[in-house]
Parts: sequence; C-alpha cells; structure tokens
Amino acid sequence: MSRNNSRTLIIISLILLLSLTGLYLCHMRNTEASEDFFAMDTIMSLQAYGKDADKALADARAAILNLDTALSVTNKDGSIYKLNSTGSCDLNDDLQYLLERSIEIKEMTDGAFNICIYPVIKEWGFTDGNYRVPDEAAVSELCKLVNASEISVNTTDNTVSLSDGAMIDLGGIAKGYASMKVRDILKDRGINSALINLGGNVCVIGSKPDGSPFSIAIKNPEPDDTGVSTFTGVLKVSDKCVITSGGYERYFEKDGLIYHHIIDPSTGYPADAGLKSVTVVSDDPTLADALSTAVYVMGKDRAVDLWHTMRDRFELVLLSDTGELYITEGLKDCFTSEFEYRIIK
Ligand code: AMP
Ligand code: MG
Repeated sequence: MSRNNSRTLIIISLILLLSLTGLYLCHMRNTEASEDFFAMDTIMSLQAYGKDADKALADARAAILNLDTALSVTNKDGSIYKLNSTGSCDLNDDLQYLLERSIEIKEMTDGAFNICIYPVIKEWGFTDGNYRVPDEAAVSELCKLVNASEISVNTTDNTVSLSDGAMIDLGGIAKGYASMKVRDILKDRGINSALINLGGNVCVIGSKPDGSPFSIAIKNPEPDDTGVSTFTGVLKVSDKCVITSGGYERYFEKDGLIYHHIIDPSTGYPADAGLKSVTVVSDDPTLADALSTAVYVMGKDRAVDLWHTMRDRFELVLLSDTGELYITEGLKDCFTSEFEYRIIK
C-alpha cells in the first residue's frame, strides 16, 4: 500500500470513529429525560426512557399545556369557558372524547360522576378559592339544575351545546385524559418505558428500563405521629394507570367542620360515603380518573357492585374513614402494604 493510500485510510477511519462516538454520545444524551412543570392546578412530572426521549417529553408537555387552556373553567381563551358562559362552543376531538366518556361514565355510576356539577362546585368556592358554606336552599336549587342539565354533542355541525343554565367542570376526568394523550404521544415517538405523573394521577408505559415493574406508592391521607407523609401501600405495575381521589386533596374548614371538593350530585354537599381514599387501577386512564371521583361518591358497597359487573376493566384500592383497607382480587399479586387489608372477591 502506498503512503498516500494508508494516510487516506487512517483519515477515513478517524472520521468513522468520530462519527460513531458522536452518534453514541447523542444516543446516550437522549435515552433518559424528565420534565417537571405546573399545569391543571397541580405539579406534573414526566420521565421517559428511549431515543429522543427529551423531544418526546417536550411534545407531551406542550399537549398538556394546550389541554390546560382548553379545559379550564376559568381560562377565557379555552373552549370550556366559552361553553359555560355562552351555552355553546365548537367541538374538537378532545372535547368530543371527553364529553362522550363523561356521559357514558355518568350512566355507569348512576349519576355519581356528573360533570354538570359545576354550578354547585362554584357555589362552594372551589373554583376561585373563595371558600364558603352555601345556603341550603341555594344548594338544593342548584342540585335540581345539575340533575336536569343536558349536554348535546352535535357531530354534524361540530358544536356542543348545554341546556339552560347548565355548566360543566372536567376537573374529575381531565388529568386522566391528559395522561392518555401523553401516553399516546410518547408511544408514537417510540418510547416504551415511561412514568407519567400528573399530580398523583400516574400512568406507566411498559416497565422500568431494567425490565422490572414500576412501583407506585399510594399516599396515606393520614400522616404518621410525627407529621411525616406515609403510604397506604405500593403497587408494582407495568403498562397501567393508578389514579387516586380523596377529600383530603382539596378542602376547607369552617366552624370545626371539613368541607372537601368531591360533591355528591344527589345532595350538592361534599360526598360522605365512608371512604377516605379511592385508587383505581386500569389500562384506561380516562375511565380510572372519572371512576376514582365517582367511587368516592358511591362508597364501598356500590363500588364493589359496579366492579362485579366490569371487573375486567378496573381494580380498586379503598381506604375507609375508619381505616379499613380493601383491594379487589386482581391486585393481590402486585399490592403490598404494611397495614392489614382485605381482598374483595
Ligand atoms: P378528582 O381529584 O379526580 O377526584 O376530581 C375532583 C374534581 O372533580 C373536583 O375538584 C371537581 O372539579 C370535580 N368534581 C367534584 N365532584 C364531582 C362529581 N360528583 N362528578 C364529576 N366531577 C366532580
Ligand atoms: Mg377523578
């Protein structure tokens, strides 16, 4: 080989080596990414593993911020604000999905989940933080309005309209839907391992990068004797959503009584069905979010009846007001707790 030839070979090898190193470093840089931000009134934390995970998470974050505007009851730029203030608005895919699912889950839960609850939520001051215990007669009138409210989804002219005086609040389902959108975006970008935590609404894609399941701790509403937060239990899951609701998440105190933000549509008052916390585990985060709110209203016995009719679609972890812990049978191999618990069959 001539001197010139061997020099060319060395240069080509060097270029190849540098490109490969660059590619490797680039790949390494993008295999693990995280995003933490505030949206939908809560802290959101996304973690993804895989090529270009950072770009996938940036897209997911943008999608959540868009939904936050669209679905907020107070953001004047969003569809829900327009719908509530004028009685109608344009329909889009997000809204159609959310409204159709909300109507389906209202029927499934005999009205325990009802997004038309908004006039009552507003009266209690949960929307603006100006908390007050409303007049009983006012609650009773608003309750009648809630239960008579109708939502018309018109796919011919792509509009939504509400019956007179009706107003909706997607606070009980929006985060579940947002986690479904994030899951879809990440999967479309080829991410097959991720932890999506939207303020305690957790959804995981696949397993951890080492192949083991993700551990999702369920917060114990009661801190320990020293005031430190503890956990009711831990779920080890892959490809699942774990969504929790409880009155302890948002409440105010007046004259020694606690009033929380999950309202029983049949009374207009904070639900008082004997549960302190409800966790729903499902493949379907929109269902899990709406059901966690509904089951808190329904109480254990009604919730178990519902579970018996559709046990292939969700599982439950229930903590009662008196401290009893229950799980449905499908969780028996993935749930652990330092507390005693009963298995519902
Ligand atoms: P979550 O934290 O998912 O249980 O949702 C609680 C939120 O759902 C509240 O802050 C309200 O915005 C809304 N909400 C309260 N009660 C109901 C109800 N019975 N049905 C539907 N949404 C509700
Ligand atoms: Mg919910």
